[in-house]
Amino acid sequence: MKFGGTSVGSPQRMKEVAQIFTPKAGEQSFVVLSAMSGTTNNLVEISDYLYRNNPEGASTVINQLEQKYMAHVEELYSTQEFRDKTIQFLQSEFELLRSFVKKAPTVTDADEKIILAQGEVMSTNMVTNYLQEQGHRVILLSALDIVRTDENGEPDLNFIREATVKRLREFLDYDIYLTQGFICRNFRGEVDNLKRGGSDYTACLIGAVLQVEEIQIWTDIDGMHNNDPRVVEHTEPVRQLYFEEAAELAYFGAKILHPTCIQPAKFAGVPVRLLNTMDPTAPGTLINNEIQHGTIKAVAAKDNITCIQIQSSRMLLAYGFLRKVFEIFEQHKTAIDMICTSEVGVSVTIDNPSRLPEIVGELKKYGTVQVNRDMCIVCVVGDLASGNVGFETRACMAVKKIPVRMISYGGSNYNISFLIKAEDKKRTLLALSETLFKDE
Ligand code: ADP
Ligand code: ASP
Ligand code: MG
Repeated sequence: MKFGGTSVGSPQRMKEVAQIFTPKAGEQSFVVLSAMSGTTNNLVEISDYLYRNNPEGASTVINQLEQKYMAHVEELYSTQEFRDKTIQFLQSEFELLRSFVKKAPTVTDADEKIILAQGEVMSTNMVTNYLQEQGHRVILLSALDIVRTDENGEPDLNFIREATVKRLREFLDYDIYLTQGFICRNFRGEVDNLKRGGSDYTACLIGAVLQVEEIQIWTDIDGMHNNDPRVVEHTEPVRQLYFEEAAELAYFGAKILHPTCIQPAKFAGVPVRLLNTMDPTAPGTLINNEIQHGTIKAVAAKDNITCIQIQSSRMLLAYGFLRKVFEIFEQHKTAIDMICTSEVGVSVTIDNPSRLPEIVGELKKYGTVQVNRDMCIVCVVGDLASGNVGFETRACMAVKKIPVRMISYGGSNYNISFLIKAEDKKRTLLALSETLFKDE
C-alpha cells in the first residue's frame, strides 16, 4: 500500500491512514510512504538556492520547514516520550540540511539527492514513531537498503527482490513493514531517487518482487479519471483499466501515476488498485489483465514536448536513413515519444530537450531541421485495435477544430496520440470529453 503526499500531509491525515493500513489479525501490511505534501518541493527549493550560492535563501526555507515539522509533533503524539524522541530525530534531520548550507556553493548532484531524500525519511520516521506509540508491531525498513538502480538508472529488480526478501526473513514478527517511497541508491551506492512522483514506482516494484495479491496506490482522488481533473470539470472515475491502458495514461501525463510505475506490476501480473484516502470505501480503479473490448477509457496530456522535423529529398527511397536519425538520439540518451514518417521526412517528439542543440547540430548533416517547442501530446486510451471500426474517427472528429501537428495511431492497440500546441491543450481536452464521454 502506497500513501501519497496529501495522504500523509498533516498529523490528522497520518492518523487516518494508519487506520487504513493497520492489518486485520493474522495479516501483514507492507506500506510505502511519500514525503508530506509540499516537502519535496521545499527541498528542491533549498538545493536550488544552494546551487545559486544563496545560503540565506536556503536557510530561510529550512527554518520555515523546521517550524512546520516541529509544530506537527505536539499534535501527532500523546506522550512526552514519543514527542521527545521525534523532536530529537527531526533536530538531527535539520542539522543535516544545514550542513549543506555551509557547503554552498560547492554543493554537488550527490548532495542534492541526499537533500531531496529527507522528506520521505522524515515522514516514515514520524509515522513509525506514531505507530509504536499506539502499540503496533511496526518496523521501518530503509528504502536505501532495498531499492537500487542499475548502470542505466533503471530499477535493479533482482537486487530489490533479494534485499526485500532478506529483510522480511530477518524481521518476521511484525504486523506493519514501512518504507520510504521515491528514494533509493544508484549502482555506485549513492543516495538517489526514482524521479518526481516516484513513490508509486517504489510500491509497484516491491509489490511486483514480492508477488503480492494486490498493489494499492492510495491518493487524494477516487481513482483514474477519464480526463485530467485539473483541466476539465466533471471528469468521471474509470472503474477498470487494462495494464497497457494504465501504462499509456501514466506515461502520457496522468499525474495520479508515476510514468513508468505500471511496468513492473504488469510484468509480474500483480493487479494495481487506485484508492482514495479521503473516501476509503469508494471503489477506485482496478488495473489488471482484462481488456474491455470496444471501450475508450480516458484521455491524458503530456506537457513540455519538443517536436523535431527532419526533411530530406535524399531520404526518398533510401534505406538506413531512419537508423542514422535514431542513432543520434541514442547517442544523446534522449528518448523519442511520438514518430511520424513520410517519404521525404520524419517528425519525432522528445520530452527532454537538454541535448537539443547537439542533436539538431548532428541532424543537420542529413536534412533540413525544424524545431517546435511548447507542444503537448494528447493521448486517447482504450481498446483502439484496428478491428474496432470508427474509434479513431471519433477521436479525430473531436479535434476537428484544433490545428494538429502530428497524429500517431497503430503503434499500440491502446492509444491514439495527437501532437498539438500547448496553448490548445485545454480546448482539446474539453472537446475530447464532450465527444467521447458525454452521455456515457
Ligand atoms: P500523490 O501525492 O498521492 O502521489 P498526486 O498529486 O501525485 O498524488 O496524484 C493525484 C492527482 O493527480 C490528483 O489529485 C489529480 O489532480 C491528478 N490527476 C491528473 N490526471 C488525473 C487523472 N486522469 N485521474 C485522476 N487524477 C489525475
Ligand atoms: N515526494 C516525492 C515527490 O514529491 C515522491 C512522491 O511523492 O511520489 O515527487
Ligand atoms: Mg504522485
